[in-house]
Amino acid sequence: MTGPEPASGDRQGTLLVVNCGSSTLKLALFDLRLHKIASVLAEKLEQFQATAHIQGDPAPVPLPSHASHRQALEAVIQALFERGWLTQAPVAIGHRVVHGGERFRQAVRIDDRTREAIADCASLAPLHNPVNLAGIDSTRSLFPGVPQIAVFDTAFHQTLPPRAFLYALPQRFYRQWGVRRYGFHGTSHAFMLTETARLLGQLPEQTSLISAHLGNGCSIAAIDHGHSVDTSMGLTPLEGLVMGSRSGDVDPGLFDFLKTKGIGQDELHRILNEQSGLLGLSGQSNDMRTLCELADQGHEASATAIDVFCFRLARYIGAMMASLRRLDALVFTGGIGENSARIRRQTLASLGLLGFAVDPERNSAHGRQSHGHIESGASRFPVLVIATDEERVIAGESLRLATPHT
Ligand code: AMP
Repeated sequence: MTGPEPASGDRQGTLLVVNCGSSTLKLALFDLRLHKIASVLAEKLEQFQATAHIQGDPAPVPLPSHASHRQALEAVIQALFERGWLTQAPVAIGHRVVHGGERFRQAVRIDDRTREAIADCASLAPLHNPVNLAGIDSTRSLFPGVPQIAVFDTAFHQTLPPRAFLYALPQRFYRQWGVRRYGFHGTSHAFMLTETARLLGQLPEQTSLISAHLGNGCSIAAIDHGHSVDTSMGLTPLEGLVMGSRSGDVDPGLFDFLKTKGIGQDELHRILNEQSGLLGLSGQSNDMRTLCELADQGHEASATAIDVFCFRLARYIGAMMASLRRLDALVFTGGIGENSARIRRQTLASLGLLGFAVDPERNSAHGRQSHGHIESGASRFPVLVIATDEERVIAGESLRLATPHT
């Protein structure tokens, strides 16, 4: 064994969480009390320099050049066995699946029928669902007989009413092709609901909140009495807030205009998804921490990127209030939401008229000494900082669905 001493937990059984992104593979191993035992990151898949590492283990997992998701999964599982992290097949395997269309309102056990239904949703998420399926197919053949669970980014938002999910387009686009707003980050927003209810001492079904997930991808959701009723992402995860390298909302008239400048469909796709957002505005980085440092050193474009990010977010927080009958808390999560006192302060500074007010000390401490609360005594509403843990939610759902009678 080359790595550190693996944690116990494998004796009782493990849960494996698989998250296949377009060029990455993330695995997490949990014990049955939902404590994380190990995590693995494989990057640059399908590229010359594909790599994989088990966290805390200096020895990389050897991968073939241009390793596919399937090859990477096989190599990583083999390494987990060889290095002692796994000694038997997992009790259940949970897969993050990006798009569940209107078909999936909650997590499901995967069988041939549900696998085909996930494949049917691929036209709505051509960059994501096919790689999610590659992960599912690989672990089904590596571990035949082990329950496999699909947990969908879209499922939590299936309670959106038509007024929130319909685009003002000819209705036939929705009826024939399913063109509507679906929303994403549902696992994280659902976790914010349960954690907010717990912190406030309420039942989730009585809890109403605005949940702002601010990471590399960013989205916001209005949750009314335990149901998602509005969210900022749409047909794809491109709509809404400013993100690391995604533009969020733009005027659709932009497409015609850029065509006159010789920018075609493929290039525009790349620009909106990979070269816009914080990266596009700052010209420097998609990473908020870097931009905060640059802005402090006087880099103007970085300060502007932060301004646009916070102002768009503040506008969306205001917009989400139109969907709610009551507001128990505004919640910040994700790498930026959890760690950046500056972004929270700057965003809420635009929302004084709605009655939000932040306590500077609680905010600087990220709410850690105040049960998540960062609002001041003058605030009309509680404001919370809560760490998200999507992998743990997927592990919990997998355990629940794999052992339905316990
Ligand atoms: P995630 O995708 O949730 O891992 O979030 C990644 C984003 O969180 C990146 O933009 C990071 O720069 C940002 N982030 C993490 N820590 C901080 C911090 N202390 N201040 C500002 N941004 C941060």
